[in-house]
Amino acid sequence: MANYIPENILDDILSRIDIVELISGYFPLKRAGRNLRALCPFHHEKTPSFMVNPQKQIFHCFGCGKGGNVVSFLMEYERMDFIEAVKTLARKTGVELPKNEASSKSSGLITSLYKVNEFAVKFYRDFLNSASGAAARTYLSKRSLSNDTVNLFQLGLSPDKWEGLFNYLRTKNASPALLEKSGLVSKGQNQGYYDRFRKRLVFPIFDVKSRVLALGARLLEDAPGMAKYINSPESLIYVKGRHLYGLNLTREAIRKEDYAIVVEGYFDCISVFQAGIKNVVASLGTSLTAEQIRLIKRYTRNVIMVYDSDQAGQDATLRSLDMFIQEDMNTRVAILPVNFDPDSFLRKFEAKAFRHILDNALGLFDYKLGLLSSRYKIINPENKAFVAGAMLDSIKKIRNPILQAEYLRRLAQALDIKEEVLISELRKIKDQKPYDFREFFRIPDSKINPTERLLMRLILGETELITKIKSVLSPEDFQDARIARVFSLICELISKGKDIEPKCLIGYLDDRESASLISEILAADEHSQEDSEEILNDCVSKIKKQRLNLRCQSLREEIKLAQKQGDQGHMDSLVFELRDLLRSGSCLEEVK
Ligand SMILES: [Zn+2]
Repeated sequence: MANYIPENILDDILSRIDIVELISGYFPLKRAGRNLRALCPFHHEKTPSFMVNPQKQIFHCFGCGKGGNVVSFLMEYERMDFIEAVKTLARKTGVELPKNEASSKSSGLITSLYKVNEFAVKFYRDFLNSASGAAARTYLSKRSLSNDTVNLFQLGLSPDKWEGLFNYLRTKNASPALLEKSGLVSKGQNQGYYDRFRKRLVFPIFDVKSRVLALGARLLEDAPGMAKYINSPESLIYVKGRHLYGLNLTREAIRKEDYAIVVEGYFDCISVFQAGIKNVVASLGTSLTAEQIRLIKRYTRNVIMVYDSDQAGQDATLRSLDMFIQEDMNTRVAILPVNFDPDSFLRKFEAKAFRHILDNALGLFDYKLGLLSSRYKIINPENKAFVAGAMLDSIKKIRNPILQAEYLRRLAQALDIKEEVLISELRKIKDQKPYDFREFFRIPDSKINPTERLLMRLILGETELITKIKSVLSPEDFQDARIARVFSLICELISKGKDIEPKCLIGYLDDRESASLISEILAADEHSQEDSEEILNDCVSKIKKQRLNLRCQSLREEIKLAQKQGDQGHMDSLVFELRDLLRSGSCLEEVK
């Protein structure tokens, strides 16, 4: 549920906007019967499978499965989050969103911090272009950066002065307190203030809307005892590890190429971009964070990592790989020759050579196994056990059971260990949790359980039907997590005495998966004149049986496991539960 925006306001916004009008503002729609069609903006296609239904105020693509209402459209098309999309529509329709005083006060401070950073960027850029910036300009051209690139990334130079920026920003009426909050200046001992960055090359760090969040700065000449790179400290607008350097300039290319190249540093990112390979971002820091990975996931699910080829770079790559798996992303690793990073590589070789390296990037499994086997000789049994453990640690995080099985098979082959041994080892390290069958059924994929789908179609077509089944079915009865969510939402709305309108229903769900699911069910076909009540009852009893069957299946698995582990007490209680279920006579054996 959308926490921040009250339902009545959401309803108001949705009632004032027409989906056809909104989408036609982005690309033309062609009428086809009661619907309108277009080539889908979310996947490549030659014949249109993107459909807009004006009656239901929904869109759906039968090619890629994306769908929803006006809010979902903006979220997908403009890559907005739920709140941003609702705010945009509120502005369009003139609906006022409620805001509390505290938030408007801090939003005033936030606006001022952005403004201060923007002035700082201008100050540093002007200084780089002044006579005093000659040495820095030479340095940049020695690093093969063109003027265009320097301007595009808005690089600057901080003067070798204590109060250069401070005095400039004071002329812009920024208070010392505000400047201190921005982190660009610090308070000295004698009530004075001094600049954080002195005699350094300055890199503005932008968010995806190209607002300056923070600045990074590099020494022009390496000096002993001084950090080569320093950054703005965290502030109200900047939290480390939440942003990716370059994304404001490269997100369109990432979306178009459908993969992101992830590098480590400012210069890596800039050089790759300048070489004409524009789908690149820098993590700024050795380890990627989960937030950074989710940020990439807004644009693509595919990543090629190109970190330094030294041991620190390899270790950072290994850590990041596991995080990518957890976020269900496809990751490959491109390997540079020893002692190169992307920046130094591109200064020596052509873009073509870099592309060749990208083309030969290794998958997670091959990269990790290759690296570990080269570090630890696997002829030695202890090393073999260690490598197996490290590989299983990644394999256990893979959510797709088929992929997991395939990796286990290949690992067994590569290490010359029996597959069964690896499988039992994997079970042991799986957080000691019993193997939960239902987890598998809850993985969202486009295949919806047909009975659950039919039931949902009936309910969405005739919402009165829900009152008939509300007391006999509960959300836990469903195997598909999205259907369970939609079902519990409908029950909640009905109990509040609200009408169920599909476009509003989608609006209350701020996750895209459920929105696409509803739009797909609604768009699929018109509901015929069947005896809906009879079909409904049939669905309910099938869903009930299906749940019982799954419980039986999962109990059997748990019993096997308890037996293997010799846990007699646990086994007895499981057997008791299973007998009880079987006695109730509802367990059928043929569930798939
Ligand atoms: Zn599509």
